[in-house]
Amino acid sequence: MAEAVYQDKEIECCDCKQVFIFTAGEQEFFASKNFTPPRRCKPCRDVRKREKEEKAAREGDGPNPAPAQAWTQDENRGNSYAQNEGRGDREGGRRKRRGR
Ligand SMILES: [Zn+2]
Repeated sequence: MAEAVYQDKEIECCDCKQVFIFTAGEQEFFASKNFTPPRRCKPCRDVRKREKEEKAAREGDGPNPAPAQAWTQDENRGNSYAQNEGRGDREGGRRKRRGR
C-alpha cells in the first residue's frame, strides 16, 4: 500500500455554507479512526453538539449516546465515545444466563 498523502481540503459547510479547511492532519486522523469526513464547520458542529446536549438534558431519558457523529470529538476530547460504539453485544448475547 502506498502511503496516502493528505492535503488540506476545502469543504463547504452544509449548514452555513461557509468553506472551511479540513486539514491534512485531520484527514489522517479521521481516516485512522474510520470516521467519515465532516460536513460542517467547527462552529456549526459545536452548535449542534450543544443543542443535542441540551435536548438530552431536557428530555432526560438516560444515556443513549448514539454516535451518529462520532467525529465530533476529534480535537477537543479524544475519542471517549467512539469507543463505546461497538459495545459488547456479542458477548452479552452469547452467555445469557449461565448456571442453573
Ligand atoms: Zn457551518
